[in-house]
Amino acid sequence: MALTGSLLIGPDRYGRTVAIVDGIVAAGVPAGTAQLSCPDAEICPGAVCGHTHIYSALAPYGMPQPTTPPENFLQILERIWWRLDRAIDADTLRAAARDYIARALLAGTTTLIDHHESPNSIEGSLAILAAACHEFGMRALLCYGATERNFGRDEAVRGLAECRRVDASPLVRGLVGLHASFTAGDETIGEAGDLARELGAVVHIHVAEDKADIDDARARGAAGPLERLKSLGALVPGSILAHGVHLSADQVRLAEAHGCWFVHNPRSNEGNRVGYACNLSQSAKVALGTDGWNADMAEEERALVRLAEQNHDTGIAGRLAAGHALVAQRFGTDPQPLMPGAVGDLVVRENGHVRHVVVGGRLAVRDGALVNGNLEAIADAARTQAARLWTRMAEA
Ligand SMILES: [Zn+2]
Repeated sequence: MALTGSLLIGPDRYGRTVAIVDGIVAAGVPAGTAQLSCPDAEICPGAVCGHTHIYSALAPYGMPQPTTPPENFLQILERIWWRLDRAIDADTLRAAARDYIARALLAGTTTLIDHHESPNSIEGSLAILAAACHEFGMRALLCYGATERNFGRDEAVRGLAECRRVDASPLVRGLVGLHASFTAGDETIGEAGDLARELGAVVHIHVAEDKADIDDARARGAAGPLERLKSLGALVPGSILAHGVHLSADQVRLAEAHGCWFVHNPRSNEGNRVGYACNLSQSAKVALGTDGWNADMAEEERALVRLAEQNHDTGIAGRLAAGHALVAQRFGTDPQPLMPGAVGDLVVRENGHVRHVVVGGRLAVRDGALVNGNLEAIADAARTQAARLWTRMAEA
């Protein structure tokens, strides 16, 4: 399957046209290129989800609640998500990925920056995610979040090796994942930084999502998780730090000085009751993510605006748009969406609704329906695999 294409989109109701040649926005298209006219609609940039967990996509299909309700962030991880990720196998992951990616495209999200973990099914897991991206036409940055929390150093080594296996394509790039400072030893963190430099990639890690991450770093003798990553050589320029809820203004500026991105995940932070990331306003390099919630970025942005207001945070402007510059850095393209040299990703909206979605110059959604899949069939498969997953989770 060709992963990119050439297409002329427009003119839209404002007379705008966007030309895409071989997956990249261009000044014009050669004669004979297919045209998608949209006189009653509006051409908009595709949305970027700056941090998510595709593997959690089966949760809405009836995930059982833990018998003892979690009372804090660590218990939420231990009783829900770390049991879920241990139960993931190839079939459940494939069904989760197809469901999550299909729904993300239908919501107008054209790039997912994913952070994956499936400790009992590490090898080949990122190839499953990449295949689902290619099947439906989703752009993605993929990584395995290396950790020592289940099986020690061996688990971390295998996680980093899986990051190395991502084959770059016009739609997919690999990152080097670490779960978080509090579940990785010094050697693992140092190796992640080295691997990112070797591959010309960056590190993608949870930082200061909850105070537990701060306490752990201090117990290990560091001023905090950010300082620990820095001292171990893992703050590679361009790296993606999810959350940053418990960082000081100075720490946020330190990360920015190292060229790092933050990703704010308002709905997740509220749901996990970890606090509001008020100091992220100290950096201009803050994108918006969903941390495993659905990848409808309009919904996430509404939550951001609501929570920013509640927390008197006036520094959130441009957070959704920042994702474009982050993605452009990884693909070596122009950071201004819809401008020549940018990735050929866009959404055609009619009355505010997603009508068409183009990724890399190819239609992924036409007239509100997936071009390369049937949502009903995808959801049926997800439901079937979810039932298997809940059984496996009960045993995990
Ligand atoms: Zn996350």
